[in-house]
Amino acid sequence: MAWGGGFGGPFFGGGGHRASTDSGLPFGGIPGELMAEATKLLATEPPHPKAAFAFSQRPSPSERQRLTLARLVAKYPGYLYGGSLLVLALSLILQAGPKLTEYAIDHGMIPGHHSLEVITVCATTYLVLALFSALLQRVQVDVTGRLAARVMQDLRIRVFTHLQRLSLDFFSEEKAGVLMSRMTSDIENLQQLVQDGISQFATQGLTMIVISVILFTTNVTLATWTVLLVVPLLFVLSIWFHRASERGYLLTRDRIATVLADLSESLYGVRVVTAHNRQRRNIRNHRHVVGAYRDANFYTGRVSAVYGPTTVMIGILGQGLLLGIGGHLYLEHRLSLGALIAFFLYLNRFFSPIQLLVQQYNSLQQGRSSITRLRELLETPPSVDERDDANELATIDGRITFEHVTFGYDPDHPVLTDVNLEIAAGESVAFVGPTGAGKSTIAKLANRFYDPTAGRVLVDGVDVRTVTLRSLRNQVGVVPQEPFLFAGSIRTNLSFGRPEATDAEIEEAIDVVGLRDLVDRLPAGIDTEVHERGQTLSAGERQLLALARAFLARPRVLILDEATSSLDLQSETIVERALDRILEGRSAILIAHRLTTAQRADRIVVVDRGGIVETGTPAQLLATGGAYATMYAAWLASGGRDATREATP
Ligand code: ADP
Repeated sequence: MAWGGGFGGPFFGGGGHRASTDSGLPFGGIPGELMAEATKLLATEPPHPKAAFAFSQRPSPSERQRLTLARLVAKYPGYLYGGSLLVLALSLILQAGPKLTEYAIDHGMIPGHHSLEVITVCATTYLVLALFSALLQRVQVDVTGRLAARVMQDLRIRVFTHLQRLSLDFFSEEKAGVLMSRMTSDIENLQQLVQDGISQFATQGLTMIVISVILFTTNVTLATWTVLLVVPLLFVLSIWFHRASERGYLLTRDRIATVLADLSESLYGVRVVTAHNRQRRNIRNHRHVVGAYRDANFYTGRVSAVYGPTTVMIGILGQGLLLGIGGHLYLEHRLSLGALIAFFLYLNRFFSPIQLLVQQYNSLQQGRSSITRLRELLETPPSVDERDDANELATIDGRITFEHVTFGYDPDHPVLTDVNLEIAAGESVAFVGPTGAGKSTIAKLANRFYDPTAGRVLVDGVDVRTVTLRSLRNQVGVVPQEPFLFAGSIRTNLSFGRPEATDAEIEEAIDVVGLRDLVDRLPAGIDTEVHERGQTLSAGERQLLALARAFLARPRVLILDEATSSLDLQSETIVERALDRILEGRSAILIAHRLTTAQRADRIVVVDRGGIVETGTPAQLLATGGAYATMYAAWLASGGRDATREATP
């Protein structure tokens, strides 16, 4: 046997070999032990439990609640209270140092009060508290980190779920970038805020309060002087800094955006630039925008240069003041030496929270605007929505009626006007007409990708707006022009519309659309991985996979947007044969780009400029010599296959 025999028998070698043949892959050189270990691991791996969640088009009451940071964190009271308690404890413990120093000086160091014992106890307590606070800090960072991670997970899922509910009109090209930025930078801003910002804000705010209280209880006179002289100066300076730095931030942000835009334009347009000898001018322009960016950086640099040293200076001035007033009070025996030193220490500690708060303010602002933007997104209602009293659509025969339907993607510019059409159960109808006439648009109204601006669309006599989206789309299936393959095996891609499909059903679908040869050729059969980017399959094969997917989903009505890219003759024949099988007993709308397909339909509807201009069986339309007959003649003249002749033996 096998390559793995050398590793000592059936356990190592056998296991690996079996796995490789099972998957149908040729052996790729995996060592026996590794394979066996992996197999062993897989055997102990519990099956993935089904996650307990439901999706419905109607949001749940909690999902309807307005998005606020408070609601997001309130979902985790344990973390919230635990975190707050830790922050509180830390703000208190961290301020014990100067107090201990004061006690050690006043009761252990000044002449007449020498006590080694007091000094030892104070120093030991100091060290123990320092260690303890380090430990608490570790726990606090962990707790707020976890809280932030959970809140972000909830938020991501909530936004994603909302995106699943939104209608097609929302997902235009231009919005994709905006949506990505909601999911990345906005959510990251919030994460930053929950993780660091809020706890920093709380810690620093509390620290200032704790220090103020300590200062006032130690000596009211000195505390008042300090607070009156130092705090207002610091306050004014910080407000100025905050405004100036915000301006600087906006300025640098705008200017770097211009630099990047200029850069990317030059890169993308490099051929035109070279062809027209624009290099010199481009450089001049780039020097200009980079210069503007440099000026913005100069500005923010200047702002920081003023703020940092000035706060330091205010601090030093404060200390000078303390020295004078405090020394005076000491001589008058109204202040102990220890208390004076503690005052110095506290004053120093008073400054860093102010500086930190000012810095954190920007992240607070960013977090706030992020949450506003996310809230807007979450509050965008789907344009095609379910009613609260929507019913399940019972199994339908497949009769579709368009009643005086008018529709425009932009309601002011109708694309369809007063369309009336009845498709009988089991009938296949081909839409033909020039590009942009509105064929796909009519079809998109049948499964409620969009809703008409006026008129009604009925399925078996039921207005599609009165039934649940799920039950409607289960029965009215769509095969889009460009079939999309998801990352996964052919099996998962096929059973997309009906995950419970059995292997036998999947194999049947493959046979029906004529993909048997392809699947047999693939290394792992239906378990071969395919994905959208991997161009392993030809356009025709992808089209057939999409058909097989539709066949497996078994909708009662099938809407098929035929690919415009021409298939080669052989694939075309296979697709047509597949279509014949798939459409058996189903109503269908075929948006036909090839007249061979149109000719096979029970009825043809000619669409032009948003209206139906002609309808009848292929033979009728050819006989009357109207628009379709003209199109057909032109198509034949340009080398199309004569399907009438092919169809009649
Ligand atoms: P056909 O299928 O006959 O080629 P469509 O139904 O796709 O035509 O398009 C009809 C008209 O609607 C065209 O003018 C097209 O530009 C416009 N249109 C199609 N899709 C959209 C859309 N998503 N947003 C705005 N306009 C659209």
